[in-house]
Amino acid sequence: MSQTLSPFDLLALQNRIENAESEAASGCGLSDVLYEARVQAAYAGILAAAPAAQRAETEAVLLSRGFHPEFEPYEAGPGECSLTGIEDDCCPCGQHP
Ligand SMILES: [Zn+2]
Repeated sequence: MSQTLSPFDLLALQNRIENAESEAASGCGLSDVLYEARVQAAYAGILAAAPAAQRAETEAVLLSRGFHPEFEPYEAGPGECSLTGIEDDCCPCGQHP
């Protein structure tokens, strides 16, 4: 397997993942479900932003951190938070102004 991530790229990727994880953890310490949804969305975003040539390696790194490519986010109904399923008015996730 050819290596396209330089050591610098790999370090930047690891930083991005760690930032995404701590961001996902902030504001939802009470909900593992919420954390999982947020962190999986963040992992998917990192993968989507990776250049095509680095996609496979990026995915491998993400998988080693717990990324589930098949993760299905909760499907919210109208007026419900897409992350928690709680009504927007009461949801503590911080995404509702
Ligand atoms: Zn919410």
